[in-house]
Amino acid sequence: MSRTPQQAYAELLRREKERALLTSSAALLAWDERTCMPRSGASYRAEQLAYLARLAHEMLTDPVTGELLAEASELPAAQQAHTVEAAVLREIRRAYERAKKLPRSLVEELARASTLGQQAWEQARRMNDFAGFRPHLERIVQLKRQEAEAVGYESTPYDALLDEYEPGETADNLRKLFTTLRQELMQIIQEVQGTNRSPRRDILERDYPVHFQEVFVRCAAVAIGFDFEAGRLDVTAHPFCTSIGPRDIRITTRYNPRHFAPAFFGVLHEVGHGLYEQGLEPEHFGTPLGLACSLGIHESQSRLWENQVGRSRPFWEHFFPRAQQTFLESLRDVTLDEFVFAINEVRPSLIRVEADEATYNLHILIRFELEQALVTGDLVPADLPGVWNERYRQYLNLNPPDDAQGCLQDIHWSAGLLGYFPTYTLGNLYAAQFMEKARQDLPQLDEQMRRGKFLELRDWLRENIHRHGQRYRAAELCRKVTGKALSPEPFLSYLRHKYAQLYGIKSPAPTAKSPPRKR
Ligand code: ZN
Repeated sequence: MSRTPQQAYAELLRREKERALLTSSAALLAWDERTCMPRSGASYRAEQLAYLARLAHEMLTDPVTGELLAEASELPAAQQAHTVEAAVLREIRRAYERAKKLPRSLVEELARASTLGQQAWEQARRMNDFAGFRPHLERIVQLKRQEAEAVGYESTPYDALLDEYEPGETADNLRKLFTTLRQELMQIIQEVQGTNRSPRRDILERDYPVHFQEVFVRCAAVAIGFDFEAGRLDVTAHPFCTSIGPRDIRITTRYNPRHFAPAFFGVLHEVGHGLYEQGLEPEHFGTPLGLACSLGIHESQSRLWENQVGRSRPFWEHFFPRAQQTFLESLRDVTLDEFVFAINEVRPSLIRVEADEATYNLHILIRFELEQALVTGDLVPADLPGVWNERYRQYLNLNPPDDAQGCLQDIHWSAGLLGYFPTYTLGNLYAAQFMEKARQDLPQLDEQMRRGKFLELRDWLRENIHRHGQRYRAAELCRKVTGKALSPEPFLSYLRHKYAQLYGIKSPAPTAKSPPRKR
């Protein structure tokens, strides 16, 4: 019995939706594990998750997937560039080929090594014991190199790992983009420090009762368009956003009763991720058109709401009077300008997740450089702490006092996530470039924000970015939305403008006048 290409295409989509039933069930189990599962449930939960992951992997790598892909590619629409069908087949084929190339033994070994690695990392960080973590890191790096070899690459094995998170992106391209970024950022930071000005930092570190924080941040989440009928907000040690189903998007946060910023900006960040998930077309859930484009684009949505909107003056012209009513004791003697300055302070620090918008990317660039060297073998894990500390001196003028505050601070490498870090900086760059365009399309944006109106911006993002799912690759989407290739300039000019106002820097940096760069 033979199928028409149209029938093969429909069957492929049906199978992808069926596979999504498995992966979304796994997502619910994982959400539960991190929010409410009793500790004793851990080992059985690991078995449940491993079982579902195996079933989903078997479904994807079933030879039937390959046959259907071949038959469906005969569709006339699949042979034209930029059609929905071509994009859907491209993305299913990408996932299929990648999964098929990985030997099952390697997949299992990676899962085991990263579970053990995370446990070892947690203890190593607590005890400041890099030596205890080193054998795990060595094993993980070795396995990730095997993964890269199995997947294949053109110029560097790092590309094979990066491709999982940022399809189509290459290390070579990122290096060019990030070299410019690093030089300019270091100059901006130097200029800010040269002003010798600093905000009243203490105003954020006062009594902020958890219950009031929760009420306040929920109001902000609703105002920017998060749909609580199709989502939840819960408390976890490490905040995250996960999609359980097309109308069920869960975000989490943690509250510090003595600090305003972590929960408030953390929730805006996760809501940004959540709005993206809520903006995908429900009928395509589980298929490429119902999946986010890339991690970099996902992060652009979180950083846009957290920083471009959430740390802007117009946003606080609306919310600050409300914050003062909510946190009467702590904000009574604070002005709007003092508050906006405090939440935008530039101050080099050792810990990535606490970094401000300018220094944050230097933390990422250090990790990007080091993980490339780990993957190519130019850096052996034993030398990591020394090289890490040297880079921190070079880029941020800081001396990590120990490895816990140095190379042991992030979970990523222990979990086998190599090639992931650059997506954070890509997110910042994409966010600035999208926002620049949104401002052109919505000239009343600042005025709307001052009045607490954010839905036009959310709908602009939905229309231009969210609803496309994986129809376009990230670089293509960026061109389609903004008319230009990704460039560090919108982000750099956004920072320069902001710090000129906050720090009273008069003349813009001389490099700002240099001719525009080609990417
Ligand atoms: Zn994020």
